[in-house]
Amino acid sequence: MEIDEAREVRTTCPYCGVGCGVLAKIAADGEVTVRGDPDHPANFGRLCSKGSALAETIDLDGRLLHPEIDSRRAGWDEALDLVASTFSKTIAEHGPDAVAFYVSGQLLTEDYYLANKLMKGFIGSANIDTNSRLCMASSVAGHRRAFGSDTVPGNYEDLELADLIVLVGSNLAWCHPVLYQRIAAAREKRPGMKIVLVDPRRTMTADIADMHLAIAPDGDVALFAGLLAYLAEHDALDDAYIAAHTTGFAEALSAAAELDLAGMAAATGLSEDELDRFFGLFAATAKTVTVYSQGVNQSSSGTDKVNAIINCHLATGRIGRPGAGPFSVTGQPNAMGGREVGGMANMLAAHMEIENPQHRDRVQRFWNAPAVADKPGLKAVEMFRGVADGRIKALWIMATNPVDSMPDADAVKAAIKACPFVVVSDVLADTDTVRHAHVRLPATAWGEKDGTVTNSERRISRQRSFLAVSGEARPDWQIIAEVGKRMGFGAAFSYTSPSEIFAEHAALSGFENDGVRDFDIGAYADVDEETYEALAPFQWPAPNTLWHGTRFFANGSYYTPDGKARFIVIRPTAYNPINPGYPLVMNTGRVRDQWHTMTRTGKSPRLSQHMAEPFVEIHPVDAARFGIGDADIVSVSTAHGHALLRALVTARQRAGSVFVPMHWTDQFSARARIDALVAPITDPISGQPASKNVATRIERFAAD
Ligand code: SF4
Repeated sequence: MEIDEAREVRTTCPYCGVGCGVLAKIAADGEVTVRGDPDHPANFGRLCSKGSALAETIDLDGRLLHPEIDSRRAGWDEALDLVASTFSKTIAEHGPDAVAFYVSGQLLTEDYYLANKLMKGFIGSANIDTNSRLCMASSVAGHRRAFGSDTVPGNYEDLELADLIVLVGSNLAWCHPVLYQRIAAAREKRPGMKIVLVDPRRTMTADIADMHLAIAPDGDVALFAGLLAYLAEHDALDDAYIAAHTTGFAEALSAAAELDLAGMAAATGLSEDELDRFFGLFAATAKTVTVYSQGVNQSSSGTDKVNAIINCHLATGRIGRPGAGPFSVTGQPNAMGGREVGGMANMLAAHMEIENPQHRDRVQRFWNAPAVADKPGLKAVEMFRGVADGRIKALWIMATNPVDSMPDADAVKAAIKACPFVVVSDVLADTDTVRHAHVRLPATAWGEKDGTVTNSERRISRQRSFLAVSGEARPDWQIIAEVGKRMGFGAAFSYTSPSEIFAEHAALSGFENDGVRDFDIGAYADVDEETYEALAPFQWPAPNTLWHGTRFFANGSYYTPDGKARFIVIRPTAYNPINPGYPLVMNTGRVRDQWHTMTRTGKSPRLSQHMAEPFVEIHPVDAARFGIGDADIVSVSTAHGHALLRALVTARQRAGSVFVPMHWTDQFSARARIDALVAPITDPISGQPASKNVATRIERFAAD
């Protein structure tokens, strides 16, 4: 780490899964400025509006600065003793599955690793799940079905090498802005590069697209099943690849071919001509990358959508090659790190399987743990149902705000309020979740803490501290370790620095691995404090054992028992929630300059200039149908709740659907908690909520 220009520190942006490198500088008067790190391989010096405004969000306003018990100030020892003794007592009386951790893609990998170790290895339950369940669980499930592992094969460079980029349910221009900038810059240099956007909305990403397919909500499975059938009919398959490296093609094709072109047009809402042009372009372009994110994942058929996309790449052999492959991009800064450490209720650390006895045995021996959980725990939506019905009696929420961000958020709020014991460790003193905690534990914020995060292309980067710790805040890993010690697991939680945890995590990834699992950073198992401090961004795998290539799946070998990728049989299903009472579909998403529930970006007046208030995008046809004019206040209602939002009448919106951003909470605008409107319907395989296709009614609001 060779920088020393007036204490300029090399760190990583804490917002989205692009994982941009940031240089943070503190002037003599304490003023902090940030700029993009020109040497970081994710962004090469670029930052988006959110990253550029980081220095405006780090003041002490609203910070939780000391532990609290029942809203009174407490000492750390008292608070930690209470957390440990209450969890221990609850487990003794009701069993390990009576407690749960709800964690976050905002945590650093070291924090995430310890939370998972404490719950799965020492408490003996798998009731640890994450807000990343809301953003990428369907991709994880789809990868595991097809590849036998949760492997993202793509690299950002592939986006610059591709001749065709298909963006599915992915508004990169606003949600992964630096990736969008990289694609736009590549396109400037290579005008022949084609871009197709598949999205019900004409988002800002459409501005660089050659083709925008305004697909019907949840029409994606039909689209990619249709594409598979088209590829077969038009002699565009890679038969040799299918024969050598895959199984199940005939069955998958047979199911995909059940829809004819007219049926496909009906299921996708696209014209036969649009379908034909897209299919023809895909068939003709060997170097194709298909990028997908929340529009694919946040669906009751999210896992099937992922596999429908992967099926097309396997059928054409377009995977494991430069400029070709399916590429899921993550929403949160460390969603990928959470996957590595098993921070989801159905996974074990280092990409091992909770239901695999050999994997459990391996993890148990490595941790010297009393018992590793032997069945999956409750996934996010089910976890809060468990809180509501009394199965969960002690809950620890780390670095997230489920009272605003979970579907059916009012029910989640009621569950948390009724839970006998709720701990929240957070940076902030008064989110809608923190205020319901019995014990509040102040955590260090971005700029104060040290650790690692992993971005969408599997690149591990350091977050480094450059600010003094505020008040009595402590790093999350330290808080978790202290609770573990006080629960009687001292030897396993006696860490003195995040580098020790990282080294252990790396060692576990390489432990009895020998290339049989995809996640391996065993080369870093001996990392010491000095090396960790200087750690440059690197991609996994980085094994200290056998590695059979430079790029995942380059040799056609997968992590399934027979080494072959699996085609998945998928039949398009028509999920249409609308009914006479709720005749429209509500689609949720992000705006460019806000992040999650605005707990940080809401502090920056500059960021709020982009979109100053919550809104609902309505197509002119629907606006006329419901008597709504531009800028009217509109009541948006679902079976679960309602919000008051400003009407934005625009033809960018698909007729029959409305779009609402999910950031605003009632702290920023009256009745704006969008997730209180979202039904708690989940994908049956991944458990990811379907936040994009909710039956909705709109009415012009008239104040009495
Ligand atoms: Fe941060 Fe994402 Fe913007 Fe990069 S693109 S600066 S990681 S918010």
